[in-house]
Amino acid sequence: MSIDLLDKFQGTLISVAIGDTLGCPFQGKLRKDIYSYFKDFREFINEYKDVFKTYTDDTQLTLHTAKALIQGNGFNTNNFISEYVRWLDDPPIGPGYGCISSIRKLKYGVSWKEAASNSGGNGTVMRIAPIGLFYSQDLKGLKTTAIKSSIITHSHPAASAGAIVIARAIAYLINKSPETGFSKDELFEVMISSISGSQEDIWEEFIEILYKLKENLNIPIEAGLIKFSQAGVKSPYFIEQFLGQAFVHPYTISTVICSLFIFLNTLSSYEDCIFKLATAGGDSDTVGAIGGSLAGAYFGLKNIPDELTKLVKNYKKILRISEELYYKFEKRY
Ligand SMILES: [Mg+2]
Repeated sequence: MSIDLLDKFQGTLISVAIGDTLGCPFQGKLRKDIYSYFKDFREFINEYKDVFKTYTDDTQLTLHTAKALIQGNGFNTNNFISEYVRWLDDPPIGPGYGCISSIRKLKYGVSWKEAASNSGGNGTVMRIAPIGLFYSQDLKGLKTTAIKSSIITHSHPAASAGAIVIARAIAYLINKSPETGFSKDELFEVMISSISGSQEDIWEEFIEILYKLKENLNIPIEAGLIKFSQAGVKSPYFIEQFLGQAFVHPYTISTVICSLFIFLNTLSSYEDCIFKLATAGGDSDTVGAIGGSLAGAYFGLKNIPDELTKLVKNYKKILRISEELYYKFEKRY
């Protein structure tokens, strides 16, 4: 059975926006508190549409990444810097400190080597989906581009590792579908091999945490999130008060692990999957966006309920940018 890749490109990017939109009101809240607001999340969305009126930095930066790729027919440092600087005029919604501080410096002409913050925050992996799509048939290019696109704002090794792992997972998932399913073992294999053999201790630690995740895929969502909410987070960033709670830390490794955990736990329905992602607790919008990119890549636009697509601000623009990115990809590969 052939896969409709245009449908996958559109599904991936709109799903980043759906997860981000649904998670936005729940940023910074404990999962158990989020679940006290409603009995049925679908009913809650229908009743309180206004609560979900916007997406945040995750979707904004994802769209700027897609535009930079379209303009340059692939990665080009100057296009990426220009697009990220343009984001400052959007204006940014709910940005992380690592991202905004480095991009402000880029705006004033500081070279990216000096502008990049040493943050391991999830600001680079939240915008990586277009790179996973565009380079899905050039895995060497995928890895180098994931790194190059990360280090212009985040010099921390966790940021580039997270970007590679999620881009690689997207490249894998767009060639699968709910009709065929996929092998979780194989997905772990491709993600782990994408960052193995490096000299970076943090990359090795990330691999160990991925193996730990693989052993814990079938535990209940709340228990898994309690286990992985601060995976890899070290002092002084570790938040003692959230120990034993489902509250995803905005560090790259913890966010990526929690997003993968929920996605792999809820493969039976797109809706169920995106609802669970966006209500993860802590950095809920970014778990929604990153997990959303995985869910969109796997399910495709055709399996995403129309009401969810239409809930997203500017959804037509997002579908159009996805289409433009697809045509550039199709021409090149
Ligand atoms: Mg955000």
